[in-house]
Amino acid sequence: MTETIIGIDLGTTNSEVAIVRDGRVEVIEVAPGVRILPSVVGVADDGTLLVGEAARNQYVLHPERSVRSIKRRMGELDAVQMAGKDYSAQEISAMILRRLREIAEAHTGETLTRAVITVPAYFSDAQRQATREAGEIAGLEVMRIINEPTAAALAYESCHSGARKALVYDLGGGTFDVSVVNLESDVVEVLASHGNNHLGGDDFDEKLVSFAVEHLRTKNTIDVRDNAVAMARLQRAAETAKITLSEQPYASLSEEYLSEKDGVPVHLSLEISRSDYEDMIEPFVAETLAAVHVALSGAGLTVSEINEILLVGGATRTPLVQRRLEEELGLQPRAEVDPDLCVAMGAAIQAAVIAGAQAPTVLVDVTPYTFGTSAMGPFNGEMYPYCFVPLIRKNTPIPVSRSEGFGTLFDGQTRAEINVYQGEDPDALNNIAIGRFMIEGLRDAPAGNPLITTFSLDVNGILQVTSREKESGLVHSITIDKAISAFSGDKLLAARERIDELFGEQEAAERPGGADAAGTADGRRLRIEATALIEKAERLLTTAAAEDAEDLVNAIEAVKDGLGGSADELKTPTDALADLLYYLDA
Ligand code: AMP
Repeated sequence: MTETIIGIDLGTTNSEVAIVRDGRVEVIEVAPGVRILPSVVGVADDGTLLVGEAARNQYVLHPERSVRSIKRRMGELDAVQMAGKDYSAQEISAMILRRLREIAEAHTGETLTRAVITVPAYFSDAQRQATREAGEIAGLEVMRIINEPTAAALAYESCHSGARKALVYDLGGGTFDVSVVNLESDVVEVLASHGNNHLGGDDFDEKLVSFAVEHLRTKNTIDVRDNAVAMARLQRAAETAKITLSEQPYASLSEEYLSEKDGVPVHLSLEISRSDYEDMIEPFVAETLAAVHVALSGAGLTVSEINEILLVGGATRTPLVQRRLEEELGLQPRAEVDPDLCVAMGAAIQAAVIAGAQAPTVLVDVTPYTFGTSAMGPFNGEMYPYCFVPLIRKNTPIPVSRSEGFGTLFDGQTRAEINVYQGEDPDALNNIAIGRFMIEGLRDAPAGNPLITTFSLDVNGILQVTSREKESGLVHSITIDKAISAFSGDKLLAARERIDELFGEQEAAERPGGADAAGTADGRRLRIEATALIEKAERLLTTAAAEDAEDLVNAIEAVKDGLGGSADELKTPTDALADLLYYLDA
């Protein structure tokens, strides 16, 4: 049997080790349930060497005995101090590599002496050489140094789909880089690369920490900046809140007994919404997008020549990052391979190929469809009640759970209908309705009362949709058993069109005047809008002044008459009612 070659992603913040066994890529656990080793090294009080989580924990209190982000120093000649001793950057990196090697040996039961290690595309020869030396110090023969974007493309199997150009967008904890790669018959070539060595998810945490510090300063008149322990706790709480905000519309920053003032304990309890958080981090995201354009022009390519975007690095799970990339490049980024692990997986794939194996593939379970709900929003310049809001996007690994916040539309609204759709069209009515339910018994509150809707999809294709009134905790939900059915999206659409046609013909025949407002998609939209406006106007009737009420009744009647006729006949009274409601500020 040939010796296994391990693949290592030696990262600035975190590192991973992976192997290929029985044709499958495995990222090895460094502790039960954990596959990420923090790239931190330290020396404990008693002289024990710490690598990973333990060193990261020690860093907060004893930075002089700990080293992190050593990758930034690779290729430099200056020594690095740790616990009063000098080390080269290669030696510190070697400690991480050696730990990863031991972990892989314990897992496989083999002695492992050969590795493929990844480096950023922008690494100079000196930096690559230093990485190679670090491997050798760790007792590893470095079979190949490969570029991180190349490894990512291997994990995404991008190279198997013919000649393509991909943009690899890598946003980690402390570094950002974007590469344009050319993929052709299993050869990956980096055409251009650009980035910022000091930009990443840690900056997002920092914004949340500042937000909390400022809150404590104004609310509790206390400055915690000089309190190292309080700041370390805030840092952790901020990262947890940030990760929550990737899936939920709100997160809390709560720390009991964070500090004290005049002998009285100070607790932190703060809520932050995703939209406020997105405002805080938008400038960072904008900076990455500017870098994307620099890399594109470096490669001599335009946006339209890019076939796919591959996401790498934990911070790419941030919804704002994915949304802004999609807006900017007009392509939904691929995120189906775990962004923290895909570089290590690619390194293992390359390692297996060097060892003579057939190129293995990464297997991930993803949803083939997009699922979402509808909400009032601007559509073709008008407010429309059926704007599609996707919650779980196609190709997201499952199981997955995503939440989004919505506000009630009018004062005193006690119930809301939640519609569930499968599809991609911005007009929800052009998607496939797969379920709906009412949340009833809402508090008597002004418009904008927040409701949190959660979509959870499991590996068996069971979709659970829940809506919760944020303030009261009132919950309603439905379970859709076969959200991912054997019926493919295209087949479903074709079947629906066939049925629509049949129904359309029948309904048109039944209605006097022939082809009616319901016949076309536009007609259907108009009818729905008209019905929604009638509902809204009728609600307003109970509170409107007498003369307004009379106008409303007339306008409602005109729309109701229009509903029986053609689209043209419906359009005028519907517009008139919309204008009247606008005028009444409803
Ligand atoms: P990496 O260096 O690739 O391991 O990325 C680490 C960064 O990703 C850290 O800043 C993490 O806090 C961040 N991160 C991990 N998971 C998420 C998430 N779900 N949403 C946002 N950021 C995340």
